[in-house]
Amino acid sequence: MSKFIFITGGVVSSLGKGIAAASIGKLLETRGLKTTIMKCDPYLNVDPGTMNPYQHGEVYVTEDGAETDLDLGHYERFTNAQITRDCNITTGKVYHTVITKERRGDYLGKTVQIIPHITDEIKRCIKKVSKEKDVDVTIVEIGGTVGDIESLPFLEAIRQLRWELGQSYALDIHVTLLPYIKSAGEQKTKPTQHSVGRLREIGIVPDILLCRTEKHISKEQRDKIALFCNVDREAVIEAPDVKNIYEVPLSFKKGRLDDLILKKLNLKSEDKDLKDWENLVIHRLRNPQHEVTICVVGKYIALQDAYKSIYEALVHGGIANDAWVHIIKIDSEEVKNNTVDRLLADAQGILIPGGFGDRGIEGKIRAVQYAREKGIPFFGICLGMQVACIEFARNICGLKEANSTEFDKDTAHPVISLLEEQRHIKMLGASMRLGSYPCRLMKDSKSFQAYKKETISERHRHRYEFNNEYRKQFEKSGIMFTGINAGQDLVEIIEITDHPWFVAGQFHPEFRSKPDRAHPLFRAFIKASLEMREGITR
Ligand code: GLN
Repeated sequence: MSKFIFITGGVVSSLGKGIAAASIGKLLETRGLKTTIMKCDPYLNVDPGTMNPYQHGEVYVTEDGAETDLDLGHYERFTNAQITRDCNITTGKVYHTVITKERRGDYLGKTVQIIPHITDEIKRCIKKVSKEKDVDVTIVEIGGTVGDIESLPFLEAIRQLRWELGQSYALDIHVTLLPYIKSAGEQKTKPTQHSVGRLREIGIVPDILLCRTEKHISKEQRDKIALFCNVDREAVIEAPDVKNIYEVPLSFKKGRLDDLILKKLNLKSEDKDLKDWENLVIHRLRNPQHEVTICVVGKYIALQDAYKSIYEALVHGGIANDAWVHIIKIDSEEVKNNTVDRLLADAQGILIPGGFGDRGIEGKIRAVQYAREKGIPFFGICLGMQVACIEFARNICGLKEANSTEFDKDTAHPVISLLEEQRHIKMLGASMRLGSYPCRLMKDSKSFQAYKKETISERHRHRYEFNNEYRKQFEKSGIMFTGINAGQDLVEIIEITDHPWFVAGQFHPEFRSKPDRAHPLFRAFIKASLEMREGITR
């Protein structure tokens, strides 16, 4: 039977609970334990698929097509855990199930209540994940901050679970903050004491505290935290700010967090260091031999989290090429004929990520034109591929009115349009082409060079597709359709033949990239951009 680690957060949000959960998963995997990680989100949306990126950040898509919280991206990047739709539950999803059951009459006339019906459903979801994945340890991250009204049912559920399982089967880890007050020259422990106090009020006594801090924790502070928070001294773990998120597992290892977890969960395994991770990831991040500048032209540039997986995948592409990737974020609304040269002047590679709605579209199209005309490596992702097609249609095929029907329903040249099956869908939630689909690559292509295989599989999240009626015209004008979904005859990848590296895909490769296994297209894109920087032309 799986053991459980429950991770809660206190004092403030954005303490990096997701990265902490992923790093713990990494440590346990390194010690030979099979692990999975899941996240409980307290909001009422059934999933984040309908939320604005400004509200929520990126929507992360799993292999099996669930639209989930971006923390699941960290879980996949740090570990080999199989992350699927069940790994993300929300208050909305839990209530949806309970209310559906109630309407069906499953509760046999009982009054349906938060305790026990909602909490039972939460426990069922958590146990289901651990059972189906057949793991040694299930890590459960509880979203939000202790003290929030909406996370209470989740906290009650994990309290009950621990009580049911028994002490050595579950562990509570609390991520907290030790703020440093400059004027007093002191690190403060009171917010942590209060946060742990709140947890104790609802019956959870944390075993380990991960203390986010700018400064080292002194012996006195450690003693004080241990005494007032009722934890062992060795269980006060320092979680300092690090330059790069991939350093977090190393920092936890230094605090012997893995030993402590194994001891408390009564698990045995040989000690193992993180040398592979250090050599493959950390060393190259600390001492890269090269540097390259990539411009990301998007709509949600102001928010760091909106293109999380894209930025990470660019870093991975850099690691694979021993290069530091300097990312310049450009708001597509600002890209105009009279600004494009200035805004993209430093670009050695240009990437256009996914997106929805027409705001900033013309700027993206202008950026594609710039990349195409100047021979700058270009990587289009999902909407990025669609705008590349619009640009090509307008400026090369002479279809001046070309557009996607997403932006102009009545366009004379709908080079991007809806499939018949998408036309009749009225509901917004979970109604896109979602999750993994196969794609066949053309042998003589940049994509094939990157993947080195003919059949690939990539994750999707979109409604619109390339309109096959324009295929011939595009091909005649110099576009190669190098990736095709054979079953549905859909265009998955386009390339421009007469260009150093111009590749755009209808899918989201960023979701499958890892720091020690960069995605082939990101690796190839960074390589091409480095060659551009070094003036190597082919
Ligand atoms: N808005 C486009 C579509 O729905 C692209 C989506 C995306 O980039 N994820 O097809």
